Amino acid sequence: MSTPSPDVYEQGKGMDAHNAVMRDIRARNDSTYDPREPTRVWLDEDNTPDGVYQSLTIILNTGGCRWARAGGCTMCGYVAESVEGGSVAHEDLMAQIQHCLDHEAENADEPSGLIKIYTSGSFLDEREVPAETRRAIAETFADRDRIVVESLPDFVDRETVGDFVDAGLETDVAVGLETATDRVRHDCVNKYFDFADFEDACEAARDAGAGVKAYLLMKPPFLSESEAVEDMKRSVRRCAAVDGCHTVSMNPCNVQRYTMVEELYHDGGYRPPWLWSVAEVLESTAEEDVIVVSDPVGHGSDRGPHNCGECDDRVQRAIKDFDLRQDPSVFEQVSCECEATWDAVLTRERSYSLPLAR
Ligand code: SF4
Ligand SMILES: [Zn+2]
Repeated sequence: MSTPSPDVYEQGKGMDAHNAVMRDIRARNDSTYDPREPTRVWLDEDNTPDGVYQSLTIILNTGGCRWARAGGCTMCGYVAESVEGGSVAHEDLMAQIQHCLDHEAENADEPSGLIKIYTSGSFLDEREVPAETRRAIAETFADRDRIVVESLPDFVDRETVGDFVDAGLETDVAVGLETATDRVRHDCVNKYFDFADFEDACEAARDAGAGVKAYLLMKPPFLSESEAVEDMKRSVRRCAAVDGCHTVSMNPCNVQRYTMVEELYHDGGYRPPWLWSVAEVLESTAEEDVIVVSDPVGHGSDRGPHNCGECDDRVQRAIKDFDLRQDPSVFEQVSCECEATWDAVLTRERSYSLPLAR
């Protein structure tokens, strides 16, 4: 892949109309954040090709995604959590890492085998995280087993990924592919790259000795519930067929602040996906030769993926259970009257702009 000049992303990519709207909406947010504090940090458990690990997830505050500054993805409010000025110094990023290590020491009995680092953009983009910082972070976590770092496909190469592989870590690159369907990625998500770029990134990661975890987004705006389900089934299958992509994290869209999705939601033009839809995709792709997990954020709330309000926690628990065991029979153990409503929505909803049920 060619080495891009710093501003090439902002030019002529995506849809200008989407970008203009998103720039307007984001401009309403005037919060700022401390550059020495991570955006978020938490402990969890994660399924990997080597089994289930205790994980430390870090969302570094790196100053925000460059694509978001051009307008960016229709559902993404992450830039709203970035720092003023647009970049964070090496010392500050390392202070954020220290904060996360302290959090881990206080809350876990032992160090996590798996470290996951996300940013409000691309960890491997040297405009967000300088090479010096990237190497220092690789060294800090060299005594762990596995690491996941998030990046857009453009920045995946031998040098960036190699820092972690050379530190002796099983390394995975998390790529926000969103969907395998180029039309949906471009027109609904407003993300500029193609599936072919994702395939190239998988090859580059493989050459560097790393693997890829693809992140998919269920139900971006402008899709009906059934279109969203079909899009995800197709996407999981296409990802499973790409060498090097061993895990898919398929996550339902939620309504984040200062986004186009939020505008549509307030105007009655968007409903987050049903948890039944998430279960349906997991169940129907369980045979594929790839780990498929899902983490429905904000489940059961109006702005997050939800069913009727009665069964949301039960279905969420089945999904989390599936994440760890990959056994589709967990879904046979949950049922609710609202499945009939969901069924009707799948067959009768023809247009995204008129969700048939809340
Ligand atoms: S989803 Fe990723 S690429 Fe899109 S605006 Fe958000 S951080 Fe940037
Ligand atoms: Zn229900």
